[in-house]
This record gives sequence, structure tokens and C-alpha cells, in this order.
Amino acid sequence: MLVALLVMAAATLLLATALTLSRDRTQRNDKHGNDIIENRYQDKALIEQINQLLPQTQCRRCTFAGCKPYATALARGEADINQCPPGGDHTAWRLAQLLGKAPKPVDRQFGIVRATPLVAWIDEPACIGCTKCILACPVDAIVGASKFMHTVITSECTGCELCVAPCPVDCIVMRLPDEVHLPRTGSTVHAS
Ligand code: SF4
Ligand code: SF4
Ligand code: SF4
Repeated sequence: MLVALLVMAAATLLLATALTLSRDRTQRNDKHGNDIIENRYQDKALIEQINQLLPQTQCRRCTFAGCKPYATALARGEADINQCPPGGDHTAWRLAQLLGKAPKPVDRQFGIVRATPLVAWIDEPACIGCTKCILACPVDAIVGASKFMHTVITSECTGCELCVAPCPVDCIVMRLPDEVHLPRTGSTVHAS
């Protein structure tokens, strides 16, 4: 009888220990899972905050595939605040404030900071309608059809310059917005 009682007591103790260990493990897993979800949520919110400070030209001068990828890298500490020339020193300063970093001007290795943004302009008579510029434009600011003349919707153009290099006949140039009505000859053409 005594032996039976001892066996039962030992079994009860073992069961209680196993239940406690299992509960602790579950709580640890839950906490780990919640931490991951929390981190992801904070990541996403921070990425959005950063992205809203960026100029959205999608020019890739920061070396990332666009403003959102740069914002993502910044949120993860994988990029510096001074990589966006279109945003200029002011944006770099606002990024520093948001991320609690020391402010610094845009690093000129990523490109120059323009006082007035340029827009693309197509010398339409020279256009052969190859559509390469349409494919390169990240914001759909060019209209045209294959083998027909193409044109830039100036109000949509962010000045990213990504359409300039792919043009096989060099008929796309960057201009000040108030010069887009001028013919090519005698007009001011700004190199990047
Ligand atoms: S350089 Fe600035 S504007 Fe250009 S893609 Fe990067 S973040 Fe956007
Ligand atoms: S038209 Fe050219 S410069 Fe303007 S947004 Fe499109 S690709 Fe960039
Ligand atoms: S890339 Fe140049 S030639 Fe080709 S469609 Fe655009 S403007 Fe015309």
C-alpha cells in the first residue's frame, strides 16, 4: 500500500513538472513570436515615416531601387541618411532628426543637389518610337506608341533622368520646367 502511494506521488510530481516546463516553453515561444510581430510592425511604421520624407523621384541615385527600398534600408540601419541628392541637405537633416542621428549634408558621390529640379523633354521630330524611354520611366510620365512619336507629361515627370540613357537617338534632354516649350536649337540643355 505504501509503495503504491509513493509511486502515485512520484507520478504526480513528474506530471506537474512536465506541465510547468511545457507552459514556460509556450510562454517563451509566445513572447518570441510577439516580439517578432512587434518588431515587424515597428519596422513597417518607421519605413512609412521615412518614405514620407523622401521626394519620390524614384531616381535610384541612393543606390537602392527607389525611395521605398531606401527607406527600408534606413529603417534597418543598412544605409546612411545622406544618400538622396533630390531630397537635398534638408531631407538629410530631417532623416537625421527622425532616426536620432547626427545631421550631415548629402554625400556628393551620390550626385549633385539641384536648386531647381529638371524635367525630361523629347525632341519629338527625332524620336523613332522605340518605346525604350517608356519602359525606363518609373512613374509613367511618357506617352507614345511603338513607331510613333513619344512625349513627356511634364507635370508627371520627377526628373529622375532614367529615360535619358536608354534613348538610342539621344533625343531626350533634361530641362528647366519653364524651358520645355522651346525648340531644341538654341534652348538650354542641362547635363546631369
Ligand atoms: S535618391 Fe532619393 S529620390 Fe532618388 S530613389 Fe533614392 S530616395 Fe528616392
Ligand atoms: S520622363 Fe524621364 S526623367 Fe521624367 S520621370 Fe520619367 S524617366 Fe524620369
Ligand atoms: S527612347 Fe528616344 S527614340 Fe525611343 S521612343 Fe523614347 S524618345 Fe523616342
